[in-house]
Amino acid sequence: MISRAQLAITISKFEDFTNPNPAKEQYMTDSETASQMLWGAFMQGDIKDKIVADLGCGTGVLGLGALLLGAKWVIMVEVDGKALEAARRNYERLRTQFGLGNNVTFINSDISMYSKEVDTVIENPPFGVQNEHADRPFLLKAFGIGKAVYSLHKIESQGFIEGLAKESNFHLTHLWRYSLPLKKTMDFHTRRIERVAVGCFRLEKND
Ligand code: SAH
Repeated sequence: MISRAQLAITISKFEDFTNPNPAKEQYMTDSETASQMLWGAFMQGDIKDKIVADLGCGTGVLGLGALLLGAKWVIMVEVDGKALEAARRNYERLRTQFGLGNNVTFINSDISMYSKEVDTVIENPPFGVQNEHADRPFLLKAFGIGKAVYSLHKIESQGFIEGLAKESNFHLTHLWRYSLPLKKTMDFHTRRIERVAVGCFRLEKND
């Protein structure tokens, strides 16, 4: 079994987006936040031996992390073929390093086309900085297919998320707060890190 520290170190070595598309709000969850999210889900019993979907998986940080923590099957859904290829390469590397099985499915499509039910959804969707409430279809899809949902959002989205959950027969059980480092491309030459207050919301289907 991999330790929390090993998980963070392994994730920190993942291949990142090569040409992040600002319109899609593509950025990789940093290894600290990703490993804490995954560990929280693991401790709640939502990862080990579970079927897990990573919606908008990007380069695979969350879904492949779940695989390392003993998920039975992981489904990675990503609309950007290049990002999904990076996720595959990250997986191949892990497979060699940790002797993982073939219990992962990569699906190159918009999340709206995906419909298979799973135990757990883990996602870091676009926050809707570019398009307001771009996270809405991700939440609705997660509520449609999952029993437990781990979703990362700006902290100020809490009211919106809880409202949407209620309409979908879900409720908030946990909220973990993080300060997410986002690389902000200012122009062609300058980059700076901006910290954004976010939360990992754990939402569960009502009985
Ligand atoms: N989950 C990854 C990537 C986060 S960035 C991580 O935590 O590192 C959000 C990702 O969602 C991007 O890779 C983007 O291409 C993808 N995405 C955005 N809209 C999508 C959609 N409608 N269907 C599938 N993927 C989408």
